[in-house]
Amino acid sequence: MSVARDIDSLEVVALYPEDPVFAQIFEDCEEWERERWMRDRSSTPYSKFDGFLFKGKRLCVHVSSWRELFVREAHNGGLMGHFGIEKTRGILEEQSYWPKMHKDVVRICGQCVVCRRAKSRLLPHGLYTPLTTPQRPWLDISMDFVLGLPRTKRGRGNIFIVVDQFSKMAHFIPCHKCDDATNVVSLFVEHVVKLRGIPQTIVSDRDPKFLSHFWKELWGRLSTKLLFSTSCHPQTDGQTEVVNRILGSMLRAVVQGKLASWEEHLPLVEFAYNRVTHSTIGMTPFKVGYGFNPLTPLDLTPLSQDVVKLRWE
Ligand SMILES: [Zn+2]
Repeated sequence: MSVARDIDSLEVVALYPEDPVFAQIFEDCEEWERERWMRDRSSTPYSKFDGFLFKGKRLCVHVSSWRELFVREAHNGGLMGHFGIEKTRGILEEQSYWPKMHKDVVRICGQCVVCRRAKSRLLPHGLYTPLTTPQRPWLDISMDFVLGLPRTKRGRGNIFIVVDQFSKMAHFIPCHKCDDATNVVSLFVEHVVKLRGIPQTIVSDRDPKFLSHFWKELWGRLSTKLLFSTSCHPQTDGQTEVVNRILGSMLRAVVQGKLASWEEHLPLVEFAYNRVTHSTIGMTPFKVGYGFNPLTPLDLTPLSQDVVKLRWE
Protein backbone atom coordinates (compact mmCIF):
# COMPACT_ATOMS: atom_id res chain seq x y z
CA MET A 1 0.00 0.00 0.00
CA SER A 2 1.36 3.37 -0.89
CA VAL A 3 0.62 6.39 1.22
CA ALA A 4 1.21 8.73 -1.68
CA ARG A 5 -1.38 7.05 -3.84
CA ASP A 6 -3.93 6.96 -1.02
CA ILE A 7 -3.74 10.66 -0.38
CA ASP A 8 -6.80 12.41 -1.65
CA SER A 9 -5.36 15.84 -2.31
CA LEU A 10 -8.65 17.62 -1.76
CA GLU A 11 -9.15 16.01 1.61
CA VAL A 12 -5.65 16.87 2.76
CA VAL A 13 -5.89 20.47 1.63
CA ALA A 14 -9.37 20.84 3.17
CA LEU A 15 -8.04 19.75 6.57
CA TYR A 16 -5.25 22.32 6.95
CA PRO A 17 -7.52 25.31 7.75
CA GLU A 18 -9.03 23.36 10.68
CA ASP A 19 -5.84 21.90 12.08
CA PRO A 20 -4.95 23.06 15.62
CA VAL A 21 -1.27 23.45 14.71
CA PHE A 22 -1.14 24.19 11.00
CA ALA A 23 -4.26 26.35 10.53
CA GLN A 24 -2.55 29.66 11.36
CA ILE A 25 0.60 28.78 9.41
CA PHE A 26 -1.47 27.70 6.41
CA GLU A 27 -3.47 30.92 6.54
CA ASP A 28 -0.24 32.94 6.74
CA CYS A 29 1.06 31.18 3.65
CA GLU A 30 -2.18 31.86 1.76
CA GLU A 31 -2.13 35.49 2.80
CA TRP A 32 1.43 35.78 1.63
CA GLU A 33 0.46 34.32 -1.73
CA ARG A 34 -2.14 37.07 -2.11
CA GLU A 35 0.07 39.93 -0.95
CA ARG A 36 3.58 38.81 -1.74
CA TRP A 37 5.01 42.31 -1.75
CA MET A 38 3.74 43.12 1.76
CA ARG A 39 5.80 40.78 3.86
CA ASP A 40 9.13 39.10 3.99
CA ARG A 41 8.83 35.36 4.57
CA SER A 42 12.48 34.44 4.55
CA SER A 43 12.41 33.80 8.30
CA THR A 44 9.76 31.07 8.19
CA PRO A 45 10.52 27.50 7.15
CA TYR A 46 6.92 26.94 6.01
CA SER A 47 5.66 27.19 2.46
CA LYS A 48 2.62 26.18 0.45
CA PHE A 49 3.06 24.06 -2.63
CA ASP A 50 0.23 22.75 -4.80
CA GLY A 51 -2.18 23.08 -1.86
CA PHE A 52 0.09 21.20 0.53
CA LEU A 53 1.91 22.74 3.45
CA PHE A 54 5.63 22.07 3.79
CA LYS A 55 8.15 22.73 6.51
CA GLY A 56 11.37 22.94 4.53
CA LYS A 57 11.10 19.96 2.22
CA ARG A 58 8.93 17.95 4.59
CA LEU A 59 5.20 17.54 4.12
CA CYS A 60 3.20 18.81 7.13
CA VAL A 61 0.75 16.12 8.19
CA HIS A 62 -2.24 17.48 10.11
CA VAL A 63 -4.07 15.84 13.01
CA SER A 64 -5.86 13.00 11.23
CA SER A 65 -5.56 9.33 10.43
CA TRP A 66 -2.89 10.28 7.86
CA ARG A 67 -0.37 10.43 10.68
CA GLU A 68 -0.98 6.83 11.63
CA LEU A 69 -0.85 5.82 7.97
CA PHE A 70 2.54 7.51 7.60
CA VAL A 71 3.97 5.88 10.73
CA ARG A 72 2.71 2.46 9.67
CA GLU A 73 4.21 2.91 6.21
CA ALA A 74 7.59 3.81 7.74
CA HIS A 75 7.42 0.90 10.18
CA ASN A 76 5.87 -1.97 8.27
CA GLY A 77 5.34 -0.84 4.67
CA GLY A 78 6.44 -3.34 2.04
CA LEU A 79 9.95 -1.90 1.83
CA MET A 80 10.37 -1.44 5.58
CA GLY A 81 11.41 -3.99 8.12
CA HIS A 82 9.57 -3.48 11.43
CA PHE A 83 12.48 -1.48 12.77
CA GLY A 84 12.45 0.04 16.24
CA ILE A 85 11.28 3.50 17.25
CA GLU A 86 14.40 5.53 16.38
CA LYS A 87 14.87 4.01 12.94
CA THR A 88 11.17 4.28 12.09
CA ARG A 89 11.22 7.93 13.12
CA GLY A 90 14.41 8.53 11.13
CA ILE A 91 12.71 7.28 7.95
CA LEU A 92 9.53 9.21 8.66
CA GLU A 93 11.35 12.48 9.33
CA GLU A 94 13.04 12.45 5.95
CA GLN A 95 9.80 13.43 4.20
CA SER A 96 7.16 14.37 6.73
CA TYR A 97 6.67 16.62 9.72
CA TRP A 98 4.28 17.13 12.59
CA PRO A 99 4.85 18.20 16.18
CA LYS A 100 5.36 15.42 18.74
CA MET A 101 5.89 12.88 15.98
CA HIS A 102 8.00 10.82 18.38
CA LYS A 103 4.99 10.16 20.65
CA ASP A 104 2.98 8.77 17.73
CA VAL A 105 5.87 6.61 16.60
CA VAL A 106 6.30 5.17 20.12
CA ARG A 107 2.58 4.45 20.41
CA ILE A 108 2.07 2.91 16.96
CA CYS A 109 5.27 0.85 16.99
CA GLY A 110 4.35 -0.33 20.50
CA GLN A 111 1.02 -1.57 19.18
CA CYS A 112 2.56 -3.59 16.36
CA VAL A 113 1.44 -7.17 16.96
CA VAL A 114 4.01 -8.55 14.52
CA CYS A 115 6.87 -6.90 16.44
CA ARG A 116 5.63 -8.12 19.79
CA ARG A 117 5.34 -11.66 18.53
CA ALA A 118 8.74 -11.59 16.88
CA LYS A 119 10.59 -9.93 19.75
CA SER A 120 13.90 -11.69 19.99
CA ARG A 121 14.98 -13.10 23.34
CA LEU A 122 18.63 -13.11 22.37
CA LEU A 123 21.13 -11.37 24.62
CA PRO A 124 23.03 -8.34 23.33
CA HIS A 125 26.17 -9.26 21.45
CA GLY A 126 29.62 -8.89 22.96
CA LEU A 127 32.34 -6.45 22.05
CA TYR A 128 34.45 -7.06 19.01
CA THR A 129 37.55 -5.40 17.71
CA PRO A 130 37.49 -4.69 14.00
CA LEU A 131 40.31 -6.42 12.16
CA THR A 132 41.07 -3.68 9.68
CA THR A 133 39.96 -0.14 8.98
CA PRO A 134 38.29 -0.34 5.60
CA GLN A 135 39.21 2.39 3.10
CA ARG A 136 36.31 2.27 0.68
CA PRO A 137 33.20 0.16 -0.05
CA TRP A 138 33.55 -3.52 -0.92
CA LEU A 139 37.28 -3.87 -0.29
CA ASP A 140 36.87 -5.75 2.95
CA ILE A 141 33.94 -8.03 3.44
CA SER A 142 32.56 -10.56 5.90
CA MET A 143 30.82 -13.77 4.97
CA ASP A 144 28.52 -15.83 7.11
CA PHE A 145 25.75 -18.37 6.78
CA VAL A 146 22.37 -18.81 8.43
CA LEU A 147 21.82 -22.53 8.37
CA GLY A 148 18.90 -24.87 8.86
CA LEU A 149 15.94 -22.67 7.94
CA PRO A 150 12.69 -24.35 6.86
CA ARG A 151 13.14 -25.57 3.28
CA THR A 152 11.45 -23.27 0.75
CA LYS A 153 9.58 -24.20 -2.45
CA ARG A 154 12.88 -23.85 -4.32
CA GLY A 155 14.58 -26.21 -1.92
CA ARG A 156 16.71 -23.62 -0.16
CA GLY A 157 17.29 -23.89 3.57
CA ASN A 158 20.19 -21.50 4.19
CA ILE A 159 21.15 -17.87 3.72
CA PHE A 160 24.59 -16.77 2.57
CA ILE A 161 25.28 -13.34 4.09
CA VAL A 162 27.88 -10.99 2.61
CA VAL A 163 28.54 -7.71 4.42
CA ASP A 164 30.74 -4.82 3.27
CA GLN A 165 32.68 -3.56 6.26
CA PHE A 166 32.90 0.02 4.98
CA SER A 167 29.28 0.80 4.04
CA LYS A 168 27.76 -2.01 6.18
CA MET A 169 25.69 -2.91 3.14
CA ALA A 170 24.53 -6.50 3.21
CA HIS A 171 23.44 -9.02 0.61
CA PHE A 172 21.23 -11.89 1.73
CA ILE A 173 21.48 -14.77 -0.70
CA PRO A 174 19.23 -17.84 -0.45
CA CYS A 175 21.43 -20.88 -0.63
CA HIS A 176 21.05 -24.61 -1.17
CA LYS A 177 24.36 -26.16 -0.17
CA CYS A 178 26.67 -24.04 1.99
CA ASP A 179 29.40 -26.60 2.55
CA ASP A 180 30.16 -26.81 -1.15
CA ALA A 181 32.67 -24.05 -2.03
CA THR A 182 31.93 -24.39 -5.76
CA ASN A 183 28.28 -23.62 -5.18
CA VAL A 184 29.07 -20.75 -2.81
CA VAL A 185 31.48 -19.23 -5.34
CA SER A 186 28.78 -19.39 -8.03
CA LEU A 187 26.43 -17.43 -5.78
CA PHE A 188 29.20 -15.01 -4.85
CA VAL A 189 29.94 -14.24 -8.50
CA GLU A 190 26.25 -13.95 -9.38
CA HIS A 191 25.28 -11.68 -6.48
CA VAL A 192 28.43 -9.86 -5.38
CA VAL A 193 31.27 -9.88 -7.91
CA LYS A 194 29.13 -8.66 -10.82
CA LEU A 195 28.25 -5.54 -8.81
CA ARG A 196 31.21 -5.04 -6.50
CA GLY A 197 34.25 -6.68 -8.00
CA ILE A 198 36.70 -8.76 -6.00
CA PRO A 199 37.34 -7.93 -2.33
CA GLN A 200 40.78 -7.53 -0.82
CA THR A 201 40.01 -9.34 2.39
CA ILE A 202 37.33 -11.73 3.52
CA VAL A 203 36.53 -12.40 7.15
CA SER A 204 34.61 -15.54 7.98
CA ASP A 205 34.30 -18.06 10.76
CA ARG A 206 34.32 -20.93 8.25
CA ASP A 207 37.27 -23.26 8.54
CA PRO A 208 40.50 -22.34 6.71
CA LYS A 209 40.10 -25.33 4.39
CA PHE A 210 36.76 -24.05 3.11
CA LEU A 211 38.13 -20.52 2.64
CA SER A 212 41.19 -21.64 0.75
CA HIS A 213 38.97 -23.81 -1.47
CA PHE A 214 36.67 -20.79 -1.92
CA TRP A 215 39.52 -18.57 -3.15
CA LYS A 216 40.97 -21.16 -5.49
CA GLU A 217 37.52 -21.76 -6.93
CA LEU A 218 36.91 -18.01 -7.32
CA TRP A 219 40.22 -17.36 -9.06
CA GLY A 220 39.59 -20.39 -11.26
CA ARG A 221 36.20 -18.96 -12.20
CA LEU A 222 37.83 -15.68 -13.20
CA SER A 223 40.38 -17.57 -15.32
CA THR A 224 43.20 -15.48 -13.94
CA LYS A 225 46.85 -16.41 -13.84
CA LEU A 226 47.60 -13.73 -11.26
CA LEU A 227 48.98 -14.80 -7.93
CA PHE A 228 46.76 -14.58 -4.89
CA SER A 229 46.94 -11.09 -3.52
CA THR A 230 43.93 -11.40 -1.29
CA SER A 231 43.79 -12.50 2.27
CA CYS A 232 41.32 -14.51 4.27
CA HIS A 233 40.80 -14.29 7.99
CA PRO A 234 39.37 -17.51 9.28
CA GLN A 235 37.90 -15.74 12.28
CA THR A 236 35.09 -13.38 12.97
CA ASP A 237 34.80 -9.67 13.61
CA GLY A 238 31.31 -9.82 15.06
CA GLN A 239 29.97 -7.98 12.04
CA THR A 240 28.05 -10.84 10.57
CA GLU A 241 26.75 -12.05 13.95
CA VAL A 242 25.07 -8.69 14.42
CA VAL A 243 23.63 -8.79 10.90
CA ASN A 244 22.62 -12.38 11.50
CA ARG A 245 20.68 -11.44 14.62
CA ILE A 246 18.92 -8.49 12.97
CA LEU A 247 18.12 -10.60 9.92
CA GLY A 248 16.61 -13.27 12.19
CA SER A 249 14.30 -10.74 13.87
CA MET A 250 13.30 -9.16 10.56
CA LEU A 251 12.48 -12.51 8.99
CA ARG A 252 10.47 -13.65 12.00
CA ALA A 253 8.50 -10.42 11.76
CA VAL A 254 7.66 -10.73 8.06
CA VAL A 255 6.97 -14.44 7.63
CA GLN A 256 4.18 -14.34 10.21
CA GLY A 257 3.96 -18.04 10.90
CA LYS A 258 4.52 -19.16 7.29
CA LEU A 259 8.10 -20.11 8.01
CA ALA A 260 8.86 -21.68 4.64
CA SER A 261 7.97 -18.40 2.87
CA TRP A 262 11.16 -16.66 4.07
CA GLU A 263 12.80 -16.78 0.64
CA GLU A 264 10.03 -14.66 -0.95
CA HIS A 265 10.54 -11.98 1.69
CA LEU A 266 14.32 -11.91 1.54
CA PRO A 267 14.76 -9.29 -1.25
CA LEU A 268 12.62 -6.71 0.55
CA VAL A 269 14.20 -7.56 3.89
CA GLU A 270 17.59 -6.85 2.29
CA PHE A 271 16.33 -3.52 0.94
CA ALA A 272 14.93 -2.56 4.35
CA TYR A 273 18.17 -3.53 6.05
CA ASN A 274 20.24 -1.34 3.74
CA ARG A 275 17.79 1.56 3.83
CA VAL A 276 17.94 2.37 7.59
CA THR A 277 20.61 4.35 9.33
CA HIS A 278 23.39 2.16 10.69
CA SER A 279 24.32 3.32 14.18
CA THR A 280 28.10 2.98 13.79
CA ILE A 281 28.29 5.06 10.59
CA GLY A 282 25.33 7.39 11.20
CA MET A 283 24.09 6.84 7.65
CA THR A 284 22.24 4.21 5.68
CA PRO A 285 24.39 1.62 3.86
CA PHE A 286 22.69 2.72 0.60
CA LYS A 287 23.74 6.32 1.19
CA VAL A 288 27.36 5.32 1.78
CA GLY A 289 27.42 2.93 -1.16
CA TYR A 290 25.40 4.89 -3.74
CA GLY A 291 25.49 8.45 -2.40
CA PHE A 292 21.68 8.55 -2.12
CA ASN A 293 18.81 6.63 -0.60
CA PRO A 294 16.67 4.67 -3.07
CA LEU A 295 12.98 5.68 -3.06
CA THR A 296 10.28 4.02 -1.00
CA PRO A 297 6.53 4.77 -1.20
CA LEU A 298 7.03 7.35 1.56
CA ASP A 299 9.35 9.33 -0.70
CA LEU A 300 6.55 9.82 -3.21
CA THR A 301 4.92 12.68 -1.34
CA PRO A 302 3.76 15.54 -3.59
CA LEU A 303 6.89 17.68 -3.27
CA SER A 304 9.25 14.77 -3.85
CA GLN A 305 7.34 13.81 -6.98
CA ASP A 306 7.64 17.31 -8.23
CA VAL A 307 11.35 17.33 -7.54
CA VAL A 308 11.73 14.10 -9.50
CA LYS A 309 9.75 15.62 -12.39
CA LEU A 310 11.85 18.77 -12.40
CA ARG A 311 15.04 16.77 -12.56
CA TRP A 312 13.88 15.04 -15.70
CA GLU A 313 12.50 18.04 -17.51
ZN1 LIG B 1 6.30 -4.06 13.71
